[in-house]
Amino acid sequence: VASFIFNVTFHGIGQPPRKLEPEEQAVWMSQPDFEAILDAVLDRDDVRITFDDGNASDVEIAIPALLKRDQTATFFVVAGRLEKPGFLREADVSEIAAAGMSVGSHGMNHVPWTRLDRAGLHTELVVARQLLERLTGRPVAEAACPFGAYDRRALGQLRKYGYTRVYTSDGGAARVSAWLQPRNTVLRADGPESIERIAGNRPALPTAAAIAAKRFLKRWR
Ligand SMILES: [Zn+2]
Repeated sequence: VASFIFNVTFHGIGQPPRKLEPEEQAVWMSQPDFEAILDAVLDRDDVRITFDDGNASDVEIAIPALLKRDQTATFFVVAGRLEKPGFLREADVSEIAAAGMSVGSHGMNHVPWTRLDRAGLHTELVVARQLLERLTGRPVAEAACPFGAYDRRALGQLRKYGYTRVYTSDGGAARVSAWLQPRNTVLRADGPESIERIAGNRPALPTAAAIAAKRFLKRWR
């Protein structure tokens, strides 16, 4: 079992069904590029695939592509966008769970969790999760921070509300067991060749010899 994992984040895929926000234009992917990246990580047990924002392409494109390859992923859904044009419908959320995929929360209104008062954070972290749990019939224990934004207070509330894992967009490798999981955003311009950049930079694990040398040095300090 790998000690480190590379979390990758996709957003919308294919022909956009609505006017995109400026920040979405850089991350919305073509279906061929998306599928080529799935193929590139087929034999990588150290890559975890995630999707943010609850776009309709999650069920229209991503789920069939994943099932075809026997891959699994976690979908971070924005609860307050369900049933809006271009986004998932409520029934899609149960379908994602039934397909063997994980459903996590991306909050209620897709706002940064760093600027909210207590009531606002409660809506984002508790009410949104309850809605998703009602649709999946399962506990929703993981969350992804909108815009990758977090601060000590938001993390404190996420812990208090019992989230078992929280995903950011800080990039790089994640320790498998870590509560806070950095993710790597896949960009519109990315293709299979980008995997080396995104998930090729394995951190060096200290070797037994290095640990012994460190202990040896400590004894002399
Ligand atoms: Zn988002």
